Amino acid sequence: MRRRNESKELSLYKPLITFIAYEDESPTSYLLRLAEANSYNSASWLIRTESGGYKGGLLNYNKTFQLLVNFPWTGFHYLEKIKELCSLPTNNLVNNGLRYCPLCLRENRYYRMIWQLKSSFACLKHKVWLIDSCPQCGEIIQSKTNLYCPCKNGHLVSKNQAITEEIPRELYLLQQYLLSGYLSKPESTYSLLANKAKITLQERIELFLFLIKWPHSVPKLEGRSYSKHYKIKELKPLLEELASILLSKGLGFWRFLYKLNQFDKTNQSVVKYKPVFVKFYRDFYNQFNTPQYRIFREIIEKFISCYWQWQITKRNVFYNEKFADNYNWIPIKQATQEYSISPTLLKKAIKEKLVISSISKKENRIFTLVHAESIKMQLHKLRNIVNFTEAQQRLGLTKKQFSQIIGSNHFPEAKRPGYDFIKWQFSKESIEHYLRCLFKNKTPIQEEAVTIAEAMKVVGGSVRPALPKLLESIKEGFISVTIQRDNYKNIKSLRVSREQLKQWIVDNDDMKDYLTIPQVAKLLNINQEIAYQLVNIGLITCQLDNNSKKRFVSETFLELFTKEYVFLSEIAKAIRITSRTLITYLAKKEIYPIDHLSDKKLRLKVFSRESLKEIIILKDIV
Ligand SMILES: [Zn+2]
Ligand SMILES: [Zn+2]
Repeated sequence: MRRRNESKELSLYKPLITFIAYEDESPTSYLLRLAEANSYNSASWLIRTESGGYKGGLLNYNKTFQLLVNFPWTGFHYLEKIKELCSLPTNNLVNNGLRYCPLCLRENRYYRMIWQLKSSFACLKHKVWLIDSCPQCGEIIQSKTNLYCPCKNGHLVSKNQAITEEIPRELYLLQQYLLSGYLSKPESTYSLLANKAKITLQERIELFLFLIKWPHSVPKLEGRSYSKHYKIKELKPLLEELASILLSKGLGFWRFLYKLNQFDKTNQSVVKYKPVFVKFYRDFYNQFNTPQYRIFREIIEKFISCYWQWQITKRNVFYNEKFADNYNWIPIKQATQEYSISPTLLKKAIKEKLVISSISKKENRIFTLVHAESIKMQLHKLRNIVNFTEAQQRLGLTKKQFSQIIGSNHFPEAKRPGYDFIKWQFSKESIEHYLRCLFKNKTPIQEEAVTIAEAMKVVGGSVRPALPKLLESIKEGFISVTIQRDNYKNIKSLRVSREQLKQWIVDNDDMKDYLTIPQVAKLLNINQEIAYQLVNIGLITCQLDNNSKKRFVSETFLELFTKEYVFLSEIAKAIRITSRTLITYLAKKEIYPIDHLSDKKLRLKVFSRESLKEIIILKDIV
């Protein structure tokens, strides 16, 4: 508390010579330049407290900015970008050193704020490495001393200007991404971090600091070692790896994970039961748990599944119960309790590889462990799955009715029972969506309204398949519905107008030209058995209705039959002789019924009209 008050009390002394800051200048650079321009020996001479002169050292970037922003003659009050950079967490900034581009410095004698980010290592304008240590003696350059003679040993900055080193293209792109969050084409298309993934500057710095520390800082893993200050010289070998992680579509990250895993295998005595790889992904999940980093997590999950399978088959010494308990691998029973999902669902998810599992052996018993982190990731998906009965009950349908609407493909995205799925799977979302579509056209109905079940009775067999077609018409608003106030809030709650329903039946009765076989028998004046026989041997063409599984005959085909064929009894009756006499008469003329050569005799003798054409006595009949 005292400290905050202290810095509030600080103010700036306005010297004789003033000027406004460069738009990307660091506040410290400005303060030092101001002191220099006025021939002050120290920049702290410019700062004063309420009680008088300021005796402290140079303030950090944010405090310096807070001081300068109050004085419009410095120009800092409108430098929004500088404000953003200065308010980054302290461990995102290089506080005890100074980074700069020697070529930029030669053009304009001031230090840019952007160079002081821990993720800054190159100048994008000149495509050279930044400098942070004296090229003459190797001493780290301090920001708190003289701007142009920052080396403790008194080596001048101007001497360093000749020493520049070009930066490789990969690292140029990496720097571009880290600073701007943007990659130009074609690099963006190959990158793990697409431009559309909004990652803020601070998040990018933190990702940088996180990824850069593996695996070399392993012995110090317990501490928050990533706030360690890296010299540019130390960064150089690490950046190539980082570029391959961020600029390639997954392969670089995969290789990186592989390297961590290899590190564990070669350093078993050091890492024991705390492998670097596990530490890495657990830390990653803790720190980078927002959607932008999903792609990283997916690769980690994939890698874990490969890695663990490998572990088990090779009987790696790492793998034992203690390890499994400690690191996210839990038995199925525990998983179902912890995440309240059913064992059947979890087993299904394992089968589908939605969650990662591993088989373990304990006292000659084999059992399955699941990776808790992967369940957590898939929880939404898992909870969204409902089975046939759950879906059917939610909709308020009977099993038969639900089968009908599935049969009419009302849930095309549902997973059908196949050899790898035992049962139907529906998504809760699609079931709710289906109901919403049915309910969306509700309107008050004045006349008599009936339930869907009652409507089915009214429809009878005239529209097929009745229920799917009716629901489809409701969804499309062709038939209006009202909602009965009840507890179901499903299809049972729907009511349709009886009048509208009747009209709908007329409009949709596409079976009105079709005859059932008993109807055919009646029309032909034969008994039903014979009608079925004629249909069975194909003399009368029929169609199978998939929903009712009944056969229907169109009027056209019935007409065709009567045009081509004639019954013996019919002709005999017409010319008033017995059937027996007629058949003998025709046989003498070598005219036989159509089943003459067939093993299957028809119960009723049928002649083709064509064959009877020459018979004079039948002239008027056929
Ligand atoms: Zn430069
Ligand atoms: Zn030096």
